[in-house]
Amino acid sequence: MRALAKTHAGPGLELCDVPVPLIGINDVRIKVRKTGICGTDLHIEAWDPWARRTIHPPLIVGHEFVGEIVEVGSNVTDFHPGDIVSGEGHVVCGRCRHCLAGRRHLCAKSIGLGVGRDGAFAEYVVLPMTNIWHHWDGVPEDVAAIFDPFGNAVHTALAFEVLGEDVLVTGAGPIGLMATAVAKFAGARHVVVSEPNAYRRELASRMGATRTVDPTTEDLHAVQHELGMVEGFDVVMEMSGNRAAIRGAIDNMAHGAGMALLGIPTDEIALDLTQIVFKMLTLKGIYGREMYETWYKMSVMVQSGLDISPAITHRFPAAEFEAAFAAARSGDAGKVIMDWGDT
Ligand code: NAD
Ligand code: ZN
Repeated sequence: MRALAKTHAGPGLELCDVPVPLIGINDVRIKVRKTGICGTDLHIEAWDPWARRTIHPPLIVGHEFVGEIVEVGSNVTDFHPGDIVSGEGHVVCGRCRHCLAGRRHLCAKSIGLGVGRDGAFAEYVVLPMTNIWHHWDGVPEDVAAIFDPFGNAVHTALAFEVLGEDVLVTGAGPIGLMATAVAKFAGARHVVVSEPNAYRRELASRMGATRTVDPTTEDLHAVQHELGMVEGFDVVMEMSGNRAAIRGAIDNMAHGAGMALLGIPTDEIALDLTQIVFKMLTLKGIYGREMYETWYKMSVMVQSGLDISPAITHRFPAAEFEAAFAAARSGDAGKVIMDWGDT
């Protein structure tokens, strides 16, 4: 089969021919239809310090996908050939305290699809049945392809109550864009999106932001004043990993507010903890998705009319992966999708 792989320790990826992966008795084999490019894939492609520490080539990359089941192991009774599915990209151990208690997203031993095991940028991908989400009717295929990052957005957006609250989203990459739409859909009053890139601010407006802000030229306190806010933002969704964004957000939070942090900083960040103490803020780290409550919520919201498709801006055949990666890397893009249909 054709697969996009890191074949050696160094920059770049190769579209190569590899054996179709075998399935065990608890696994399913999926014919991949569409995949989304994540920042993680860009790090692996570029072979940055994180990738050098983490990735052991040869490895098929990619974890955001939708496809059709073609074969199931002998223990698998819930899934059948023909089912349209996506995969939860964190393969958990199943045996630790949190896994046994049903809090699988807290497993400390989870292995990443396309990071610690062969991934989904290929004609076929294999996953344990416990990692499969069977899509509901009414979920468009392109949206199904990005359920993984959509799940990051939903997990973050629903970490704190947003109904009737004022929300600040810092960073309008694909995940911040989707979180903007979710916050609005879930009943937030103002959803202010801070993002230095003009292309992405425009996309944020299309996703339902009440106001976009260029943090390099505008002051969030002035924006609060303009919107008639008095005490500060009730909820912050941190989607940038940027130091100035995190500090600026804390500075603009109301007493008792909550910040859900999804963005991954590249370096340590010093924070003024007195603000966190005196304003009695709650900071919560978000990693991945809740298995499978987040997936359930995503499906319900899409069926009820939430439209995240404007966050998808580029589509390429998988053979043009270099152009797809360049688009994703440019910053002037939302989500970039690769189609494996005619590989
Ligand atoms: P992205 O890099 O495309 O988006 C980040 C955005 O932040 C960019 O548009 C950038 O212009 C913007 N930004 C930079 N400086 C800013 C500032 N001072 N104020 C406001 N915005 C600023 O990333 P993405 O794919 O949308 O993912 C969002 C973040 O979440 C990334 O840091 C990513 O690494 C991380 N992530 C975390 C998880 C998890 O499970 N915790 C999963 C996926 C991605
Ligand atoms: Zn575990």
